[in-house]
Amino acid sequence: MHEMSIALGIVQLAEKKARESNAQYISKINIQIGTLSGIEIDSFEFAWPLAVKETLLEKAVKILDVVPAKAKCSDCNHDFDIHNIYDACPKCGSYFKHIYQGKELKVKYIEIEK
Ligand SMILES: [Zn+2]
Repeated sequence: MHEMSIALGIVQLAEKKARESNAQYISKINIQIGTLSGIEIDSFEFAWPLAVKETLLEKAVKILDVVPAKAKCSDCNHDFDIHNIYDACPKCGSYFKHIYQGKELKVKYIEIEK
């Protein structure tokens, strides 16, 4: 499962950061996932408890921010919500656009206990 390796990668990254600060454990983690990041949220939620088992994140409260994808049309400059990377501009029908939000997959912050 693709989402499992993503979750493990996030856990690894968070643990590394926590260890650098001499943390005992991580109490909270905030993760941002864009709707066009290619991550299946349900699968990610399913993978998470398995990924954090016996790590510093085992008891961490997970806050998942789902970031809606947005694009700007290259032809008419219209700003719109995009649900699929092949979506056309709803105003002029152009397929040329710049997706400026919604592809993120990142740890926004972690809270640690020492
Ligand atoms: Zn347009």
